[in-house]
Amino acid sequence: MTGNSEPAASSAELAASFAELYGREPEGIWAAPGRVNLIGEYTDFNDGFVMPLALPHTARAAVARRTDGELRLHSTEVPGGVVRLRVDELAPGQGHDWAAYPAGVVWALREAGHPVTGADIQLTSTVPTGAGLSSSAALETVTAFALNDLFGLGLSAPELAVLGQRAENVFVGVPCGVMDQMASACCTEGHALHLDTRDLARRQVPFDLPAHGLRLLVVDTRVKHALGDGAYAERRAGCEAGAAALGLRTLRELPYDGLAEALDTLAESGADESVVRYVRHVVSDNERVERVIALLDAGDVRAVGPVLEAGHASLRDDLRVSCAELDLAVSAAVEAGALGARMTGGGFGGSAIVLVEEDRADAVADAVREAFAAAGHTAPGIFPAVPSAGARRLV
Ligand code: ADP
Ligand code: MG
Repeated sequence: MTGNSEPAASSAELAASFAELYGREPEGIWAAPGRVNLIGEYTDFNDGFVMPLALPHTARAAVARRTDGELRLHSTEVPGGVVRLRVDELAPGQGHDWAAYPAGVVWALREAGHPVTGADIQLTSTVPTGAGLSSSAALETVTAFALNDLFGLGLSAPELAVLGQRAENVFVGVPCGVMDQMASACCTEGHALHLDTRDLARRQVPFDLPAHGLRLLVVDTRVKHALGDGAYAERRAGCEAGAAALGLRTLRELPYDGLAEALDTLAESGADESVVRYVRHVVSDNERVERVIALLDAGDVRAVGPVLEAGHASLRDDLRVSCAELDLAVSAAVEAGALGARMTGGGFGGSAIVLVEEDRADAVADAVREAFAAAGHTAPGIFPAVPSAGARRLV
């Protein structure tokens, strides 16, 4: 089984590379994880439910404050020198490539009135990038946690997550919901996070797979189809149009038992056929989150499998955000005896999750690899998703 969940550098190594770069010691080291979402997809911008869990893969940051208004950023994964910015000149739409994620957090904190006067930051991450596992949110969250501690801002984990989302939405310019940053900030070991994105109410739901003899695999398809970016915005606009046509503020206000009638209303009002499908996906996925929680609370973890499959079918057929590689990962896993599987994250590539009996995990992983090889796809990365801790200070 591949997949590197070890930190790219130990804390001592990260501190040493910080010292080499900046000529002094860091004041501390922080970590924030990537995530997979168990169920509830494309629901977070509809005020709906999601259920992510943190991965053992983390972004780490060694950080020391500056008082001269300079922000210096470096990532061990990016060749090239230190990026130097002025905190008082940060503004949305400046570009900055990868550095926009941590710089955006500094911008969002300052815009909210917090006195961040500069910092030296050395980043490193084991979260695969662009795989739908939220490497971007991990960078934002680790930066937010570090600055919150060092500057004594007293912000809570959800407040830091919301600022991270604002950094990504406004400064970087990616219209993501709040799930990724909330997962990175608030998940706990051995649990999935039931998050209500309407008011950020949350509950840690025990998700102890080994105790049930189960494993959750991540299949990173290693592809990202260009279609994804515009498609996300189009789905978002379609959901908003659907809610407006039904006289609702968001689709969250539509209960599952009112769905059939609402779909009839939409069809009769001449709504676009795609809007009808999007509404059906969002409202039914909210219901699937509630079903999964009921199953986990009842200790019936195996029964989650078919719900994952239903979620995948809805993302594939109604929302239409899957792709050949994701569909193959899911079908090959299920044919090889997995309990259930679905794409996770935004789709058009990225990753799928597979719920499987522990003693079938290797055989299922092999079957997925063989199916990819037979179809001529790039070999996927497959590793277990062990529900892990959220953001924290390490040193
Ligand atoms: P995802 O969040 O699903 O991994 P995104 O496209 O949202 O995908 O974010 C990936 C981007 O985040 C990368 O292109 C890069 O700009 C930035 N990023 C992630 N990890 C690192 C890292 N270790 N060092 C520098 N930049 C990173
Ligand atoms: Mg991202």
